[in-house]
Order: sequence, then structure tokens, then C-alpha cells
Amino acid sequence: MGPQLKYLALFSLCISASVSAGPKLYVFDCGSAKLDSLEMFNIKPEESDVRELFVPCYLIRHDDGILFWDGGLPRSVVGSEPSEPTEGPVMRYDRWIIDQLADMGIEPGDITYAAYSHLHFDHSGAANELVENTVLMQQAEWKNAFGEGQEFVDSSLYEGLKQARLKLIDGDYDVFGDGSVRLIYTPGHTPGHQSLLVMLDNTGPVVLSGDLYHTQANRTLRRVPTFNYNAEQTLESMDKLDSVLAETGATLWIEHDKALADTLKKAPAFYD
Ligand SMILES: [Zn+2]
Repeated sequence: MGPQLKYLALFSLCISASVSAGPKLYVFDCGSAKLDSLEMFNIKPEESDVRELFVPCYLIRHDDGILFWDGGLPRSVVGSEPSEPTEGPVMRYDRWIIDQLADMGIEPGDITYAAYSHLHFDHSGAANELVENTVLMQQAEWKNAFGEGQEFVDSSLYEGLKQARLKLIDGDYDVFGDGSVRLIYTPGHTPGHQSLLVMLDNTGPVVLSGDLYHTQANRTLRRVPTFNYNAEQTLESMDKLDSVLAETGATLWIEHDKALADTLKKAPAFYD
């Protein structure tokens, strides 16, 4: 290679290094649920006036691929009108996540990885649609996925994962190998619950909570929901995540926090 070519090669290397940006985080509205009380989350009526939980889905674009995180409510909720007063939460879901992705020109096959904080019905709604990619799953969550008698689990929502390319992991996991997108193992809510750390260049690091916390009151009062798989493990995971937040300076986004969600920009807008 002559000196001129060498210079050119070096120059293009610098250009590509400078345009290579950090990850982009997209937030999607994948429904919400109105509740009479937060009793199941171990919060007394006078301790919080929150009565509605947001249900998100997220997409992270990285130079080396796309990660989809948390699958929202089931498709059956989309467009449904609760006509009669019913027991339990009143759910709404305006536009199916797969259609929201299509609006952005993203087909399920374009997604490299899918991961779920856990497999409860409000986090795995789209799981059967996302089986062409590699699914990153904690061993403990998968081991428990088809067990009998679990609350808030509808295994028909993720039956398709049996045919998917599953990458079973055990603990924290660096998704793209450069530290910018990391699964943080935070078990307790379910056996293999995890949270997600995303290092955003301009916004700063953000941690997506999964259901380690459902509301701000759960965080400030350090309250474990009554239906968690393991209360002690949940408290340990809260401590662990606090260390991660302190080390990275990350902001915690409680995924079900509707007041927070109302302030967040939704896809196709993004955080970088
Ligand atoms: Zn949830």
C-alpha cells in the first residue's frame, strides 16, 4: 500500500470511528392497567395515590444489532373496551407492538436479540412473535417457565420460545460485548428476573427496572410485593442494583411508573 492509500485508509478509519455512535433507546406504549389499590405490591392506600401502571416495550439499536426488551401486554388486550365493571385490573393497549415496529420499518426478523425482564403476562405479550432472533434468557427463568400454579403467568404467550434460538445465561450479561448494554441479574420477583443497563452517550446511563420495583413507593419504602417468588432475594437484588446505580451513575426508570412514562418521548423518537 502506497503512502497515499495508507493515509486514505487511516482517514476512513477515523471517519467510521467518529460516526459510530452509542446505543439508541426507544420507548413504546404497550398498554396500561388501572387498579383499585396497590395492596398486591405491599403499598397501603395512604402510602401512594398511584392507581395506574404503564406497560412498556423497548428497543435498543446498537451498531452490532437490535435488542428488543420486554414484550408488553398480550395482543388480546389490543383495542378491547372494558364494558362491564370487572374484577382485577382494567387494561388498555392501543396499538400492537408488532404494528408499532412495522410503522418504523422494523420487522421481527430484523431484531437480533429479544430479552424479557421476566415472563409474567405483562412482559411477554409479544414473545411468540419474536422467535426468529436469539432470545437471551436466564436459566432460572426458563426452568420455571412452564411450571404449574404460577400467578400472572400465561405460558401460551411464550410457547413459541421452545422453537426459538435460546441463549441461556446465568447472571449478568454483556449483550454486545462492549459494556454498553448489560443484563443485570436481579432475581426475586421471579426466579430469573433481570434488569437492563443501557449506556447512553447524551442521556447518560439508564437502568430499566423490570419489576424489581413496580412504583416509586416500592423503591422509597423498600417494599416487596406480596406475590414475589422470593422476598429475601428481592431485597438482595435491590441492594445489588443500588450498587450498579452508584457505580455507573445511572438513572433508574421504573418501567411501570406511569408518571415517569408520561414524561418520556415515545418511538420513533429515541434517547441516545
Ligand atoms: Zn409487570
